[in-house]
Amino acid sequence: MTQRDALPSLGDGLPVVAIDVGGTTMKVSGVGPTGAMTAPRRVPSPPPGPGSADEVVRIATDLVREESERLGVSPAGLGIALPGVVVEDQALGVYSENLEWHDVDFRAAFAQTLDIPVAVAHDVRAAGAAETRLGAAQGASTALVLAIGTGIATSVQVDGRLHVGRGYAGEIGHAVVEPGGEPCVCGNRGCLEATASAGAIRRRYERDAGTQVDGAKEVLALAAAGDPVAVAVRDSAFDALALGLSHAVTLLVPDVVVIAGGLSEAGDALLVPLAERLERLVRYGPVPPLVRAHLGEDAGLVGAALAARDALAPTGAAQTSR
Ligand SMILES: [Zn+2]
Repeated sequence: MTQRDALPSLGDGLPVVAIDVGGTTMKVSGVGPTGAMTAPRRVPSPPPGPGSADEVVRIATDLVREESERLGVSPAGLGIALPGVVVEDQALGVYSENLEWHDVDFRAAFAQTLDIPVAVAHDVRAAGAAETRLGAAQGASTALVLAIGTGIATSVQVDGRLHVGRGYAGEIGHAVVEPGGEPCVCGNRGCLEATASAGAIRRRYERDAGTQVDGAKEVLALAAAGDPVAVAVRDSAFDALALGLSHAVTLLVPDVVVIAGGLSEAGDALLVPLAERLERLVRYGPVPPLVRAHLGEDAGLVGAALAARDALAPTGAAQTSR
C-alpha cells in the first residue's frame, strides 16, 4: 500500500506477541502494557509440506523470544493468525492449502515450546475482528468484512459475535455466482473468486487480451482509460461481486460492509460502482454503506493481538460463535 494508517493502540493491558502466518511471510509485532504495537517485522514462512506446521511453531517460538527482548517485558500470551480452515476454540488448523497441513493441534504443539497461553485465530476472521473493533466498522453490531485479494473471503460478525461455522464461515469466494462459469481452484466452476478476485481479474484480462499485466490494479487503470477488454473484465467482476454481496446483505442485514484486501486499494474506483450495483440488486431491505478497510495489510496482525489479549481477559472479550 502506498498509504496506511498507523497500527492502532489496543489500550492498557497485559503485554502480548502477535503473529500473522501467511503463505509466504510470517509477520510479528509486540504489544506493550500501554497497548502500543511495535512496527511489524517479517520473516519467510516455511515451505509447504508435512513439516510446515512444526516449522511454524518453531519460528513463532523464536519470534516470541525476540519480541520479548524488543518489548523489554515478558509477554503474557501469544496470538497467532493462521491461514486456511481454522477452528479457533480448539486451536485446530484443519487445513491449509498454502502450507499443506491437515488437522494440526496447535495448542498441543505450542505446549512443547512455550509456557504462555496461545490463542489461535483465523487470518480473515482476525482481520475482520480488528476492523470491527478498531477500524472501519468500529461500533457496528453486524458487519461483513469482504477481503478481495488472491482469493475472496469474508468475516461475518452477527450481533457482536464472530461466526465461525466449524471453520468454514465466510468463504463467499466459493459461492457460485455464474453456474458453469470460470473454473475455480476448489474444483467447481463459476465461483465468485474465479471471476472477481484480484488474481482472477488479472488472469482473465491476460487470457482475453493476450498480453501480460502487472496485476488487477493495472486492469482497472486500463478500463478507466477505455480499453474494451479491461472494461468487460472489470464490469463482469464488479457484477459478480455485487451479486454475491447482495445475497449476504439480504440474509444478514449488516450495519456496514468493509471492503478489504489488495483490490480495496482501488478505493472509489471499486467502492462507487459496487455500491451502485448493490443498490440496484437489493430492493427489499436496507442497503448498507460500503467502506474501505482502515487497517490494510496489518489487520490480521492486529486481530491476532486482540485474540491474545481476549484469551487473557475472557470476560471482556468479543465472543465467537460456532
Ligand atoms: Zn471455488
